Amino acid sequence: MDNQYTSAEKLCVEKALEKILSFARVLDTERVGMLDALGRVLARDIVSDIDIAPFDNAAMDGFALKASDIKLASPQSPVQLKVVGGIGAGSVFDGVVNSGEALRIMTGAALPAGTDTVVKIESVEVLGETPANPEGTDIVVAKKLEEGANVRYKGEEGRAGEVLLKAGTVVNAAGIGLLASTGNATVELYRRPLVAILSSGDELVDPSVLPGPGQIRNSNCYSLAGAVKAAGALPDICGIVRDNKDAILAAIRQAVATHDLVIISGGAAGGDFDYTYQVLSELGEVHFSKVNMRPGKAQTLSVIDGTIVFGLAGNPSAAMVGFEVLLRPALRFMQGYSHIKRPVTRARLTADANKPDSRRFFLRARMQRNLKTGEHLVTPEQKQSSALLGALQNSNCLVVLPEGLTGSVKDEIVACLRLDIDEGTEI
Ligand code: AMP
Ligand code: MG
Repeated sequence: MDNQYTSAEKLCVEKALEKILSFARVLDTERVGMLDALGRVLARDIVSDIDIAPFDNAAMDGFALKASDIKLASPQSPVQLKVVGGIGAGSVFDGVVNSGEALRIMTGAALPAGTDTVVKIESVEVLGETPANPEGTDIVVAKKLEEGANVRYKGEEGRAGEVLLKAGTVVNAAGIGLLASTGNATVELYRRPLVAILSSGDELVDPSVLPGPGQIRNSNCYSLAGAVKAAGALPDICGIVRDNKDAILAAIRQAVATHDLVIISGGAAGGDFDYTYQVLSELGEVHFSKVNMRPGKAQTLSVIDGTIVFGLAGNPSAAMVGFEVLLRPALRFMQGYSHIKRPVTRARLTADANKPDSRRFFLRARMQRNLKTGEHLVTPEQKQSSALLGALQNSNCLVVLPEGLTGSVKDEIVACLRLDIDEGTEI
């Protein structure tokens, strides 16, 4: 135990987060297929091996021509040009288009030599268009065009050798397209943390089992696995451990040896069968065991052989809120994300919110935007018990009621931690 914090002292949320982040390390990298980059962080700059686009090309179906040929074109004095052929995307015109001529061209086809502009098919009259002569023999242009109109230039997206995506970028679907067009079929990313998830409790049975007298189903392993996955990490459900010190010791020891981070829920308070604290302090160093928050006071941070082992509260929504507030930022950090804080929106409470004690209170709540006024309104869920999950399923935010206050009243403006928006999103 740190001298700084005794087990009786409840650490404030910021200090607890700071502490856990001080032990979190960005993981090593791995090379994966480009589709696996979605939502993940690039470990290296992405350089293009070619100019993109690789050549000047038509942005529209129409006719390639020289702008100077039609600079005097108007409805009163239209200009007629001779059609010398036609090309589609993927083809190259093998010749030069001279002054007074035009080439029928499809979107994406390379602009032929001698031309600088494309006139849309809808803007011209095509003469002599027959099945035997599908491109037509001539076109009549009744309007001038700026040079370069409807042309996409070589290298517009980027030049060969240029960095198109910087290391640290979170790749979205468009980014995967850039990986493809730059020839990066595989890409180096920060590894996803493999997270062991254990639950301790003599009362727990697997979800497939009908609970007997005094038993409940183990929901924490699964809700936490969902939360780990949503954070971009890889959950490994290690299952139920009985309330037995040796069993917990063995399970933690094994999990530490094979995972990047270990979570154990339950057995966190100071009850007769609560061994988490004892085991974690025997195997490693405990840095705190109480956080000044509700739900989720009983949370234990320990580091064992360099691996973070985190004891979450046993109560289902306390475990989830603790994960969201303390573990999710750490898991994001380990994957190289530079933004690890959820966006906060200020909203007007639609009902009074009571606070049972002085701890920082994370109220499960639903936020909506009044479409007429643009104002954000937030309604706390009725059932705030830390034993219940339904309120969290319905929530899209956590209302943060600060320490000390007794609560907040209807119409007060409160800070809401957005659970429905990723970290780093500008709102
Ligand atoms: P504990 O921290 O072990 O005192 O547990 C606090 C409460 O959470 C008790 O009501 C437990 O039955 C419940 N609980 C503990 N672990 C789980 C779990 N894995 N799934 C569902 N409820 C749990
Ligand atoms: Mg227990």
